[in-house]
Amino acid sequence: MTFEELKEQIVACEACKAKFGFTPTPIFHGKEQSKIFQISQAPSHNVHLTKKPFNDQTGAKLKYKWYNITDDVFYDEDNFYITALSHCFPGKNARGGDNSPPLSCAKKWLVKELEMVNNRLFVIIGAKAAQFLFPQDRFEDLVFKNSTLHQKPAIVLPHPSPLNVKWFKDHPQFEEKRLPEIREMIWSVLELA
Ligand code: SF4
Repeated sequence: MTFEELKEQIVACEACKAKFGFTPTPIFHGKEQSKIFQISQAPSHNVHLTKKPFNDQTGAKLKYKWYNITDDVFYDEDNFYITALSHCFPGKNARGGDNSPPLSCAKKWLVKELEMVNNRLFVIIGAKAAQFLFPQDRFEDLVFKNSTLHQKPAIVLPHPSPLNVKWFKDHPQFEEKRLPEIREMIWSVLELA
């Protein structure tokens, strides 16, 4: 299978339609030679509606504050391959939060993307994505060190969601010390530094 064929298959996927109760909208972005392979949890409802990844409050914090880059840089396919455990918004639960991402999607599509994208760096966002990719490691340990995935450097970020307040309160050293190191790695790969 070529990479273009893989993308066509993901775009056409409706495997979770019955479980979600609506027609799924797979959202991912990038190309086989993107420099950074970014893996998060699942698209938000706003991303589902606009079909643009990280086009929400979480994305604003990630792009403008943490990475300190513009949309032109973030959405340049040479720079980022943007995907997630669940390629589709998984719907809302009874408490108003988002449903957990179906890991069946990661097993079906993410593993194939991992085999085919020729990236230089992985950025993994949130505890669920980290647990899927590094099942033996503690999330806190992963955030504060450089890791390796598929023989390439990998960094793990906490989820930048505005709802993730407690984690940031409990770990002030992330934004003070770790984030500048991570930003430097990202800028270096993007050749911005
Ligand atoms: S979440 Fe993944 S497996 Fe489910 S419909 Fe979307 S692309 Fe298909």
